[in-house]
Amino acid sequence: APVLVWFRDDHRLSDNPALSGAAATGSQVLCFYVLDDASEGIRPLGGAARWWLHGSLKALSEALERAGSSLLVLRGSALGLVDSVVRKTGASAIYWNRRYGAAEIAVDSAIKKRLSDGGTKVHSCSGRLLHEPWEITNQSGKPFQVFTPYLRAVKARSIKPPLPAPRRLEGGVWTPSILNQAAPIAELGLEPTSPDWAGGIWHEWQRGELAAQAKLSHFIETGLKGYAEGRDRPSKAGTSRLSPHLRFGEISPRQVWRSVMNAVAAEPGLERDADKFLSEIVWRDFTHQLLHFHPHLPDRPHSSRFESFPWIEDRLSLKAWQRGRTGYPIVDAGMRQLWQTGWMHNRVRMITASFMVKHLLTDWRQGEAWFWDTLVDADPANNAFSWQWIAGSGPDSAPFHRIFNPVTQGEKFDPEGDYIRTYVPELAQLPRAFIHKPWEAPPAVLRETGVVLGETYPHPIVPHGPARERALKAFRSMRDLT
Ligand code: FAD
Repeated sequence: APVLVWFRDDHRLSDNPALSGAAATGSQVLCFYVLDDASEGIRPLGGAARWWLHGSLKALSEALERAGSSLLVLRGSALGLVDSVVRKTGASAIYWNRRYGAAEIAVDSAIKKRLSDGGTKVHSCSGRLLHEPWEITNQSGKPFQVFTPYLRAVKARSIKPPLPAPRRLEGGVWTPSILNQAAPIAELGLEPTSPDWAGGIWHEWQRGELAAQAKLSHFIETGLKGYAEGRDRPSKAGTSRLSPHLRFGEISPRQVWRSVMNAVAAEPGLERDADKFLSEIVWRDFTHQLLHFHPHLPDRPHSSRFESFPWIEDRLSLKAWQRGRTGYPIVDAGMRQLWQTGWMHNRVRMITASFMVKHLLTDWRQGEAWFWDTLVDADPANNAFSWQWIAGSGPDSAPFHRIFNPVTQGEKFDPEGDYIRTYVPELAQLPRAFIHKPWEAPPAVLRETGVVLGETYPHPIVPHGPARERALKAFRSMRDLT
């Protein structure tokens, strides 16, 4: 009998424990993916992530074909579909890598129970994280709530070496009754047609396992040295840009870990930068651990005090923020980078998120939802955790009263204004001294550089000082209520 591999956000052949486990049986290996837009509680992917998924599935399908197998894509509710695939193929076993969201776990548990009761072996493997969420605990066996001791605990353990890709898969043939149910990737409607808003995203990214590995090698060669400082400069290619690849499992954190450690072994001077970079990879594990133990992270403030926060609903301000028309150049550059390329630099994610939550007093869930729709790396754990971190309501958060000043943040992290010049071209001619605060430029400078505030570029939609005071007052009022 054949064995099945159910791919879910682990779109790679190397270091894929489910695939390697199936290949090791020596049986025919049948691989499939389910676009599950029907199971209860599974959050539909946003637009940019759907775009990524399209290319990612195509690349996976081609890679499986090269290895001797293929990828069958199904659409619908996983519970019924997986059961029917097992029955119709007469498979003896099914392999998958675990997921950590509550709705996904509920689906997987139900499937596992049904299949095990029917005599099919179910192998759920660990392929998404460095460690499973329940493996890293404090001395009393509880999950960590704070990152630093979590990181220390991770560093005290060894990281499993990544698995090689199976050399050759013994592919099987799907029966016509299953093939009839299959959906060609091109017909899933994942990529936009008209209007095709994905032009800038196409330009920026290549999807799939090979692209992910090339990206990692390129980063190790050109970006790792100096990462500790370079990672805070949005105008530079100072970070790895591996996030969408990690999100869709085109590369595993263990592979990243191993390659970076190899680079350090060859060049010990890299150690400090590598340490910083790998701690970001551990952050990713940490947010997944938090999501696993706090499944409401994406939709409810972790700290219940924040349930009473007096958020303001102001559609116009929210729209100005989304479109990059707040009048604060660093905020607008970030929001436009996001819209054009499906990605935003981490430092600017923090500035734009803080601006939306604190200057505009908009509920963090609105920002989380916008990022969910527009980021190619939109990730249930990283996105929800980061928004709550900014809002001050999450576990191990920045305190609410730390309110970024968008002008000084811009001056500090984009001192030449190059990032602004790229994404806010209407300000490109402004001299450095005014590029983060065009409203302070003398009229003659504005005239010479073609900037007409209120016409070519907006006035700030809220003044910084009063907005800051308003935010602090709102925060205090919340405390009074509880
Ligand atoms: P690098 O600096 O090269 O880091 C390598 C990898 O480490 C990243 O690919 C990512 O997987 C992980 N990582 C880095 N920073 C963080 C972090 N702060 N928290 C958790 N993991 C991290 N990241 C996402 O992957 N998906 C999201 O939806 C997401 N939403 C965010 C929303 C907000 C408001 C903020 C402030 C941050 C968010 N991040 C998110 C975290 C971070 O901004 C991105 O992971 C990072 O910018 C990706 O770029 P990179 O791959 O070049 O990062």
